[in-house]
Amino acid sequence: MRILITGGAGYIGSHVVKALGKLGHEITIVDNLSTGFQKAVTFGKLIVADLSDRSKMEDIFSTGNFEAVVHFAGSIVVPESVAEPLRYYQNNTINSHSVMTLCEKYRVKNFIFSSTAAVYGMPGDGVCREDSEKKPINPYGQSKLMTEHMLRDLAFSNKNFHYVALRYFNVSGADPEGQIGQSFPKATHLIKAACEAATGKRTHMDLFGTDYPTKDGTCVRDYIHVSDLAEAHVKALEYLEKGGESQALNCGYGHGFSVKEVISRVKEITGVNFKVNELPRRPGDPASLTAESSRLIQLTGWKPKFDDLNLIIKSAYEWEKNRPY
Ligand code: UDP
Repeated sequence: MRILITGGAGYIGSHVVKALGKLGHEITIVDNLSTGFQKAVTFGKLIVADLSDRSKMEDIFSTGNFEAVVHFAGSIVVPESVAEPLRYYQNNTINSHSVMTLCEKYRVKNFIFSSTAAVYGMPGDGVCREDSEKKPINPYGQSKLMTEHMLRDLAFSNKNFHYVALRYFNVSGADPEGQIGQSFPKATHLIKAACEAATGKRTHMDLFGTDYPTKDGTCVRDYIHVSDLAEAHVKALEYLEKGGESQALNCGYGHGFSVKEVISRVKEITGVNFKVNELPRRPGDPASLTAESSRLIQLTGWKPKFDDLNLIIKSAYEWEKNRPY
């Protein structure tokens, strides 16, 4: 298949590029390298461009003859979205509209979208089912939900267009072969931050909020290994290729760990007792988010291979110690 991957030089995108590249697909990547790295691109042709550059994007689509688009490029930091909402609506919603407009014009059949558990907001019991109420509590989740709505409406009006929106839970870990991983500058994600503290790249870590209504007062999340998530994209594309209906699908393992549990597991595995400062809640954080992900398994045949917090942390730590970029 000829596939365009936006944001393919980023953390998750680069793992999907590797998974699809290994299968022999013809891959074009468009990435502005704002948070991605040229070295993370292990397959395909990288075009450095911004999705808002209309003439460049028109060139890419008019010559690419793409059968599928996998759309990652966007901004992903919840507190940043609270501070700079318009940048989030530009990068996540308006740019997605531009990509979808080109997909329609150039008759791209299949579209995979990087969505997020943040579309659910604060589900009562913390468990998210695909048809649970969607009430984002931050601009990040809202910006992604707006794109899901555009996809739904486009697929309804244009019977040639099919999509899967994958709602990611907490993506972490690194390629087990050690080739790629998370190198996002000023990373804010928990496991990454803890591994940076364990390797001495930061002096301490902050723990945001100890008064949530959870087992130990800290937030609970469903941590999914990035290579399992990459495989979910491969499976979702195969599902659409076989004529599957457009869907939104959760990507998580269905069980959660608290921030305190994750931090103590990182300390145990690395043997480093780094300093942790307990701070007030961070804006935009729901207490608990875990996936009901049986729909992904049933529809696409996805089989997770790395559903093990220790393994996730070990791969993230190995990457953090040795990372080449
Ligand atoms: N968190 C924390 N310290 C950090 C980074 C994250 O206490 O340095 C907490 C954060 O407040 C949230 C959980 O860890 O409760 C997961 O946050 P992360 O940013 O990893 O992912 P999110 O769920 O926001 O996408």
